[in-house]
Amino acid sequence: MIPYGRQEITEADIEAVATVLRSDFLTQGPTVPAFEHEVSLIANARHAVAVNSATSALHIACEALGLGPGDWLWTTPITFAASANCGLYCGAKVDFVDIDPRTYNMSPVALEARLVEASKRGVLPKAVVPVHLCGQPCDMAAIHALSRKYGFRIIEDASHAIGGRYQGDPIGNGRYSDITVFSFHPVKIVTTGEGGVAVTNDDALAQRMRLTRSHGITREPAEMSKAPDGPWYYEQIALGFNYRMTDIHAALGVSQMHRLDAYVARRHELARRYDALLSDLPVVTPWQMPGTYSGLHLYVVRLGETGNDGASRRRVFEQLRAAGIGVNLHYIPVHLHPYYRAMGFAPGDFPEAERYYREAISLPMYATLTEADQDRVIAALADAMRS
Ligand SMILES: *Cc1c(COP(=O)(O)O)cnc(C)c1O
Repeated sequence: MIPYGRQEITEADIEAVATVLRSDFLTQGPTVPAFEHEVSLIANARHAVAVNSATSALHIACEALGLGPGDWLWTTPITFAASANCGLYCGAKVDFVDIDPRTYNMSPVALEARLVEASKRGVLPKAVVPVHLCGQPCDMAAIHALSRKYGFRIIEDASHAIGGRYQGDPIGNGRYSDITVFSFHPVKIVTTGEGGVAVTNDDALAQRMRLTRSHGITREPAEMSKAPDGPWYYEQIALGFNYRMTDIHAALGVSQMHRLDAYVARRHELARRYDALLSDLPVVTPWQMPGTYSGLHLYVVRLGETGNDGASRRRVFEQLRAAGIGVNLHYIPVHLHPYYRAMGFAPGDFPEAERYYREAISLPMYATLTEADQDRVIAALADAMRS
């Protein structure tokens, strides 16, 4: 089986992890700060806060922005559920904005239309979470301009996009957002096993996220209500969580980060080759927004006119799986999950997202995918589309 994504673990990675295992610190040692430093350099952000998953990073990002009961968080329906769930964790309500049919990212046009309507009803969002789907950067300048006009904060879900660039700047640099979140799950571009990082240029947001990732407890005298009782002293000053990353995970991350640029470049080579190999097949290949460099976490094709029920996509998908090609589907629109349906969302709410869902297939895409693997994928796809 050729999977849709997979990690590469080198001897250097194993050695880096073993070094931590032989050291005094499995957690809260020097390696997490070292990993945070690597991520802040890549993202060109002042602060990086490492946690145990991107899901946790999204949660503490929402918390730091003060999201709570009575607030709204808006995101795209075409994402992993975590991009929306983070709002619910804080007691806020969640709504969605339909996608752009070319990029599959949140459409700034749809966003503006919804903001106009929401502002009439007095229910503007407190936070918007654009997701750089497949690694393709969202139209952040447009979303940022709307945030100025309508007064919302922005968390970029860059779980797919580390190593990418927007207008020449690295994803995470914070020019158009408050906080950016990266995932280091093994299917993503680089991995820590499980892990996530939130980056920001805002000192107060970084301080708050460092506090809430670790129980809301501080050992900083400057943050305490009074002078310390003694050297043992700490204070809980907020309700936090245990979302800490371990040094074991961070060591893998530091080692993997050395290969980030090479991995993303390799993904681009593979994508160009897919583009060429697919040019004779009736599929829609990814469109790249000018001025962007994708992290290329995923390579998604859309089957052309398939009727409205997704039946032929399903047949092609099943045939590819039967041929040992581990295709996948990113994503089931979040609003169609039963948990969200129970809040009142229904089919038809976000037509472009639902059309995408009927047509999309993620082809295998990872740095160690070979050209022979790719040829097998294309031959199986051509086969499935002919029958
Ligand atoms: C993977 C992913 C997440 C969650 O990442 P974890 O590190 O697994 O918690 C969130 N959003 C998107 C878009 C993702 O792809």
